[in-house]
Amino acid sequence: MKNFYKCAIIYPSNLIGFMEIVLMINKLLSWFKEECPHCKQQLIGQGSTTPATKACPDGHYKVETHPLLDVQIEYHTK
Ligand SMILES: [Zn+2]
Repeated sequence: MKNFYKCAIIYPSNLIGFMEIVLMINKLLSWFKEECPHCKQQLIGQGSTTPATKACPDGHYKVETHPLLDVQIEYHTK
């Protein structure tokens, strides 16, 4: 019975810690997935041209990646 109480006390805090990690990973993943920061839709690649351009389907957001310059240019249109 003593052990049960220990678990009951320890588990919630562990779960919260775990959730924080999951949220952090989701943030990183969403960054790599390249969602529109305004409507969270996945960005659509626009051909394989250089610079590579990805844009929100609703046109809120556009990213140009210049691999040679190692630069990303973001356009926010709301
Ligand atoms: Zn959008």
